Amino acid sequence: MTTMVHLFGGSATTAERAKELLGGKGSNLAEMASIGLPVPPGFTITTEVCTAYYANGESYPAGLAEEVVNGIVHIEGITGKKFGDATNPLLVSVRSGARVSMPGMMDTVLNLGLNDDTVKGLADASGDARFAWDSYRRFIQMYADVVMGLDHAEFEEALEVAKEDKGFFLDTEMSAEDWQKLVAEYQAIVERETGAPFPQEPRDQLWGAIGAVFESWESDRAKVYRRLNSIPAEWGTAVNVQAMVFGNMGDTSATGVAFTRDPATGERAWYGEWLINAQGEDVVAGIRTPQYLTKAARERAGAKPLSMEEAMPETFTELGNVFDTLENHYRDMQDIEFTVERGVLWMLQTRSGKRTAKAALKIAVDMAAEGLISEEEAVLRVDPSALDQLLHPTLDPKAPRDVLTKGLPASPGAASGKIMFDADSTEQAAAKGEAVILVRVETSPEDIHGMHAAKGILTARGGMTSHAAVVARGMGRPCVSGAGGLAIDNNAKVLRIGDRVLNEGDIITLDGGTGEVMAGEVPTLLPELVGDFGTLMTWADKVRRMKVRTNAETPADAQVARDFGAEGIGLCRTEHMFFDADRITAVREMILAEDEAGRRTALAKLLPEQRKDFAGIFGVMAGLPVTIRLLDPPLHEFLPTREEDFATVAAAAGVAVEKLKARANELHEFNPMLGHRGCRLGVTYPEIYEMQARAIFEAACDIAEQSGAAPIPEVMIPLVASRREFDLMKAVVDEAAQAVFAEKGRTLDYLVGTMIELPRAALMAGEIADAAEFFSFGTNDLTQTTIGISRDDAGRFLTQYVDKGIFLTDPFVSIDVEGVGQLIEIATERGRQTRPNIKLGICGEHGGDAPSIHFCEQTGLDYVSASPYRVPIARLAAAQSALKNR
Ligand code: PEP
Ligand code: MG
Repeated sequence: MTTMVHLFGGSATTAERAKELLGGKGSNLAEMASIGLPVPPGFTITTEVCTAYYANGESYPAGLAEEVVNGIVHIEGITGKKFGDATNPLLVSVRSGARVSMPGMMDTVLNLGLNDDTVKGLADASGDARFAWDSYRRFIQMYADVVMGLDHAEFEEALEVAKEDKGFFLDTEMSAEDWQKLVAEYQAIVERETGAPFPQEPRDQLWGAIGAVFESWESDRAKVYRRLNSIPAEWGTAVNVQAMVFGNMGDTSATGVAFTRDPATGERAWYGEWLINAQGEDVVAGIRTPQYLTKAARERAGAKPLSMEEAMPETFTELGNVFDTLENHYRDMQDIEFTVERGVLWMLQTRSGKRTAKAALKIAVDMAAEGLISEEEAVLRVDPSALDQLLHPTLDPKAPRDVLTKGLPASPGAASGKIMFDADSTEQAAAKGEAVILVRVETSPEDIHGMHAAKGILTARGGMTSHAAVVARGMGRPCVSGAGGLAIDNNAKVLRIGDRVLNEGDIITLDGGTGEVMAGEVPTLLPELVGDFGTLMTWADKVRRMKVRTNAETPADAQVARDFGAEGIGLCRTEHMFFDADRITAVREMILAEDEAGRRTALAKLLPEQRKDFAGIFGVMAGLPVTIRLLDPPLHEFLPTREEDFATVAAAAGVAVEKLKARANELHEFNPMLGHRGCRLGVTYPEIYEMQARAIFEAACDIAEQSGAAPIPEVMIPLVASRREFDLMKAVVDEAAQAVFAEKGRTLDYLVGTMIELPRAALMAGEIADAAEFFSFGTNDLTQTTIGISRDDAGRFLTQYVDKGIFLTDPFVSIDVEGVGQLIEIATERGRQTRPNIKLGICGEHGGDAPSIHFCEQTGLDYVSASPYRVPIARLAAAQSALKNR
């Protein structure tokens, strides 16, 4: 292990591998200090210490204690104060800081070092006894909550009672004596709850806080956040110990949070909130309503309390200069925390600001235009999966809105759903496929799982930087916060807004872009790729190597995908066409027929329908490749289950119901996913594939005739395991093609290829490629058959597998590169060896997942295929992969 404690401030320099070792917060504090910005001095205990702590049964590595003492000496040297000194005490903050920011996940202790003696020293040194006792009561409450795990409600109640006794409304009305009395009460609560007095020794306090930070790394809420964001547990968190500066030293002091650009819209305007005479927690906790940073923002909101620009013009100008320095240095939008102590500005944090997808696009495109970053960097700046937010419907502006109330537009997007009042119910309802709006007075980190499961979030309290707002923006959930008109009764599960009463399960709609809350469901409109989105996509397409196709089986879906930039179809699942009400009877008749003649009679009814399906798709994708997969699913999926369905099929086929039922029984399979499906259907009933191939070529010839732009059919055989299977099926397809071409008097180019979705197919790829003209990796089945986990049942236990680190992420969402990835690489290599120009693509769900797309780029596939709404995500991810792979 290198040094365990890294110093910042004074003449300290930045570290190597800073982000990894010091975490985001620590490395940025060190970096800000090194470029001359005003940062209170401090030190960072590295993430390696956290890892070692857990590796050694929750004990600290040898030598850490000495290094921490050195760190304190470093701070003392610069500030001239002494830790634990009764006359001029040094107070510190202790905060966590992982490599990536985990909002609300980890804990913070402020004002550490206060005790019954140092509080008096602080009062004398500052000349402000009220401030000193206020700081002490804050410290006890925070320490009791974060380090000792006591319920903060008890402390809040004591404060409320104290204020009520005095007839006060605001904390700021409390005097030094009032706070001192409260401190005694707080200490009594601690003693009562823990059986021991509040720790008076600052060094004990410090180690208590350090331990609490490390412990919180393994807290449930941190684990949930890591799972949702694919953050490995091995990363660990750093601990930052820093000299306190005080925003609560009277009316020339303040604290605030700000973004260098608007995190919701991306507009180039300083954006933030601040509070006079307060500490940082007051702003984020939503206890007092923060004020606007700029005059323009205040005026726009019609708010009274002065903005920082008006109340502290000089410090505000200084802060603006810091914003510019930071943006030029980091070349990105920054999210900062600052404190003003008696007119002096201090920077407490900077990091790349979380932003909505809309803002991410605007900031990337603007920064490229400003010359701050290149077009290629702009392409790399936008998280492909975040685009999801923009690819979903927005509220139809023409639709009537029954507006119940208006809150803050905390995270954009529209959502409708049933209201639920707690995270657990939300999660349970969402698991059943219900759309839920989570309604809370305010959210806390314990609500994370519910927020993730909800379609939207509504809170009664909290500003634009409240927990709900920050987390919702990060997750891309629409959120309306601080909707003051709400009266929430959690016990009765009732929401009152004015004279309207809503119960659990009632439907509301949120507009996270305007802050409106509406009764019922409001209709939505489809999004378009225009403006910054269009610009960034153009830049992405310039550097992209892989083609992006879509998985679609209707002309409407194909059209959506084409509008989103799809360059063909990578998978058209023909079985979905068989479920149409007017076809299912013929399909069932075909399956239940006892001989080939019976099947052919039924298939003849389906042929014109299939031809129509394919013509529609070829029409939309004119001139582009269209991969059509022949029938794949286990037949049982089509079998009738209801009495009346048996009767209908029996009538259509002219056979007895009993006979049909007997046949259905015969077809029963114990393990249909590994049963009579895929090309096994074509091997036993070639006439099915023959009909489908005929429909494909007839439709293709008709479209070529009508439009002049010949479609390029790529006929795909599913679930192949051997060369012989493929040969048999290819012969059926070729024969149908020749027959149709002879009838129509024209020929067309077409390909016949296979899916690689069984391990055996991947291993035999060299032989199969001798006959197959393309491979498409069916990674849904390939994952299922390689790991041996049923894709339909995995949901019940996979989360635990991810929690316990068996899988880093769900292998059905992101390719299991280590395992399934090997088979893809083997098949690619062996396939290309036999047929160097073989076309290779992927059509499993992974084709729309950014990390999987990255793997496809590295493996050298020719294209990925994604569902229509994920086509732009795939275009951007493919471009980023090409850039990263250079
Ligand atoms: C696959 O298995 O990856 C695939 C695309 O086919 P399906 O999901 O239809 O089984
Ligand atoms: Mg499959």
